[in-house]
Amino acid sequence: MWDRGAKMNQRFIPPHGGYEQLASYRKALIIFQATYYLAAKWIRMGSRTRDQMEQSARSGKQNIVEASLASATSKQTEIHLTNVAKASLGELLEDYKDFLLLRGLPVWDKDSPRSQDIRRLARGTDGMGATFDTYRRHVESDDPEVVGNVMVCLCNQACFLLNRQIRQLEQAFLQEGGIRERMTRARVEAREAQASPAPVCPQCGKPMRQRTARQGPNAGKAFWGCAAYPDCRGVRDAAAPQVPPVPPVPPNSEEAQ
Ligand SMILES: [Zn+2]
Repeated sequence: MWDRGAKMNQRFIPPHGGYEQLASYRKALIIFQATYYLAAKWIRMGSRTRDQMEQSARSGKQNIVEASLASATSKQTEIHLTNVAKASLGELLEDYKDFLLLRGLPVWDKDSPRSQDIRRLARGTDGMGATFDTYRRHVESDDPEVVGNVMVCLCNQACFLLNRQIRQLEQAFLQEGGIRERMTRARVEAREAQASPAPVCPQCGKPMRQRTARQGPNAGKAFWGCAAYPDCRGVRDAAAPQVPPVPPVPPNSEEAQ
């Protein structure tokens, strides 16, 4: 029985975690590291803005992690937390635009050569993807125009990646259904597999097949008919198969609403 349970689990709980491999997580991690460095360097200690920027950066990264961990049990939660991450990094994007605005500095056009140079860094030096070190020269620059714009670019990239991730999650949810739908499907399959094996024909000894009466007083009812029908007309009553009761979804589970 344990084996069957393990097999069912495999089927309705998809792989999860592995957030370290998500492009959005890697981007959010760079933003998190850069923001803590920049807040300390550029923004007055104890100011609300500094607090908020650090919180947004942390929330962006943290919610991507939590979404990934939740993916095992609830696609809805995963989608929700990914949306929270996007909102946090969207707020941070505004903060960095303000950082430039309040200093009278321009947000670089996204097609300008300087913006393109920064965007190219995303591939990383070895093609393995960027890390904080890839952007260190820009982040640690003493020119606030460079600092603000590299962060605007990073936040834009993170929001783009999260948008794509949310669309993919929604697509997967529509196609595969939530865990509840997958549990039901797995239960039905398990029940069918557990149903008693076919009996043999009382007249000829061949295995029997489950059939449904089409007419007569038993129309619509299931019965066992000989596999050799119409050569053999042996039948048996369809004894109710021994099916264990289906356990209900626990009432405190997130999906039981
Ligand atoms: Zn028969």
